Amino acid sequence: MRALFEYRYLSSIIDKAMNRGYVDIVLGLQWGDEGKGRVVHYLSRDYELVVRFQGGANAGHTVYINGEKYVLHLVPTGILHNGVKVAIGPGVVLDPEVLSEEIQFLRGAGIDVDGRLFIDPRTPIVFPFHKREDALFEEKGGIGSTKRGIAPAYRDLYQRFAVRVGDILDESQLDKMVRKQLEFNNIILRHFGERELNVSDVKDWVLSYKNIIEPAILDVSLLIREHVLQGKRVLLEGAQGTLLDIFFGNYPYVTSSHTIAGGALVGAGFGKDVIRRVYGVFKAYVTRVGKGPFPTELKDDTGEEIASKGEEFGATTGRKRRVGWLDIPLLKYAIWISGVTHPVMTKLDVLEGFREVKLAVSYRLDGEFYDMITPASLSLERVEPVYESYGPFEGIKNAESRDAFGEGVKEYIKRIENLIEMPISSISKGKENDLI
Ligand code: GDP
Repeated sequence: MRALFEYRYLSSIIDKAMNRGYVDIVLGLQWGDEGKGRVVHYLSRDYELVVRFQGGANAGHTVYINGEKYVLHLVPTGILHNGVKVAIGPGVVLDPEVLSEEIQFLRGAGIDVDGRLFIDPRTPIVFPFHKREDALFEEKGGIGSTKRGIAPAYRDLYQRFAVRVGDILDESQLDKMVRKQLEFNNIILRHFGERELNVSDVKDWVLSYKNIIEPAILDVSLLIREHVLQGKRVLLEGAQGTLLDIFFGNYPYVTSSHTIAGGALVGAGFGKDVIRRVYGVFKAYVTRVGKGPFPTELKDDTGEEIASKGEEFGATTGRKRRVGWLDIPLLKYAIWISGVTHPVMTKLDVLEGFREVKLAVSYRLDGEFYDMITPASLSLERVEPVYESYGPFEGIKNAESRDAFGEGVKEYIKRIENLIEMPISSISKGKENDLI
């Protein structure tokens, strides 16, 4: 392990010495809630710019600083470091109401936002009617939506009548787009017996946020380019997780955007050559919110204990998360899909005190074994995980290095690294302390 740390230390010195600008990506390798907010916060002190590239206010990134809790749904968590700029790329859908609340919250906490927050003019806007439609569809038997209007907002984008951030700068363009968008959305509202909306009310609503949005409007792709050309470092902050990706998750139990590394390129606007690292964040166990297959799910007291120790309740919805053992076939899939170079494990401390921790090393299905699956090729509902056991789990919370972990924990980590065929670059074992 020591050799590995030295290697990482040396490579970062070389990067700095050559003054290369680059982009690193942080994303979730499971079903979201992996602790990306905490990891981004930890890393972002070393970056000049932090960018969100997909999703919207359905994310809930939690960061603790000196015991104080900060939950951000839309503004990138990099804002919590003075001197770091943040940006919202066109792959995000922007709810002005949430943006305004978060800006107020940040100002109230003494965090300066002016001149540090940028929003791409191509970013689609989430309207209150999107949230209403989301809730109405969910009532009819949805997939466990957060009801933040995310799917209807992306739908309108793909229908080519979304109002986008830049439209608020041009009255006639705004009028044209709101008319088109309402023509369609009023059909839906009418279908559900809801009151139809008129163009001027919707325009007034969005224009009431013009004063906070307008000063932030900037081409985020060019902002990233400028940073890279000037030798600066840019961090891309993913939301949700790989298994919720609209293409590569377990459709239809997925989110409406691309949560994988490719999503960062399309959602923020840069090419592959500037990417240095892809950090993939995963919990030492697995959680999932809402419906959908979950091969290693624990429906017993052990699951309850992990959920309670890990405080597994959603930051956006307050919903209780389903809990299960770490699932290597899914993890390998997620690492492959995003080309992860730096896997980061979180919440290892939650497993402290367990005599036995299980690890799903492969799946069995119809007499065959699978060590990596793609949700497209295998029915996740039908697979049977093959487990190995590790333990007891001791010496985690107070460890200052991995050498201090109990033997059971060390074996668990070693086995995971062996199965994913790469070292785990960092381990988080608390809400606030340093990663090791
Ligand atoms: P995200 O959506 O991936 O950013 O994840 P959330 O912020 O929704 O959930 C992660 C939760 O786990 C937050 O409450 C974090 O403070 C907490 N957390 C992150 N890393 C650790 C860790 O290593 N140990 C513990 N106990 N909590 C952690």
